[in-house]
Amino acid sequence: MNIIDISHAITPKMPLYPGSQKPVFRAMRGKTSVSSSILMGSHIGTHVDAPCHVFRLGSGVDELPLESMVGMCRVLDLSYVKEAIHIEDLKKYKIQKGERIMVKTKNSSRGFKNFFSDYIYLSGEAAQYLGKIGIAMFGIDYLSVKQKGSADNRPHTELLKRKIVIFEGLNLVKVKAGKYFFVGLPLKFVGLDGSPARAILIPMKVGYKIKL
Ligand SMILES: [Zn+2]
Repeated sequence: MNIIDISHAITPKMPLYPGSQKPVFRAMRGKTSVSSSILMGSHIGTHVDAPCHVFRLGSGVDELPLESMVGMCRVLDLSYVKEAIHIEDLKKYKIQKGERIMVKTKNSSRGFKNFFSDYIYLSGEAAQYLGKIGIAMFGIDYLSVKQKGSADNRPHTELLKRKIVIFEGLNLVKVKAGKYFFVGLPLKFVGLDGSPARAILIPMKVGYKIKL
């Protein structure tokens, strides 16, 4: 099976959103085995955001709907976008209720060696547009869905208030636009605001149809 890994490697050298706890692994050696303690931010690398990331009484990552994170997904190529993804960039794709949508932008082609703050992000209006459609999942190829430092938090709130799962930090450098089977599962941290996840895409053969 052709599986495309769209997750970032979790290593102390990975690029981080400023202020995030970098991963620290400490090996504890027993007589017959090794197990490690892990310290890291909940929003590092490829990860999901839970409603309580932005809503004080929102649910945690353990309550995200699993069906939003497994199933058919559409990757849109928005590599031409220069700063923000606007409604016009999405409208032409006739996005439907319940779809899982992933956007490939020039963030992927710039590479992920170092953090850059002028990444492509989702505009507040476009987030509202996707929220009203009622998609199931939105994924973007950078560490945040919103513009760095912006007071407009709608890219988070408009999606999370409707329980739309947000995947951030996807690595879509090897992915072409099209339909895929998607699996991206965060760990079951109770009440936590986010969690790193392993995300994969499986290309679908032409003509192969699977329910959304
Ligand atoms: Zn996040």
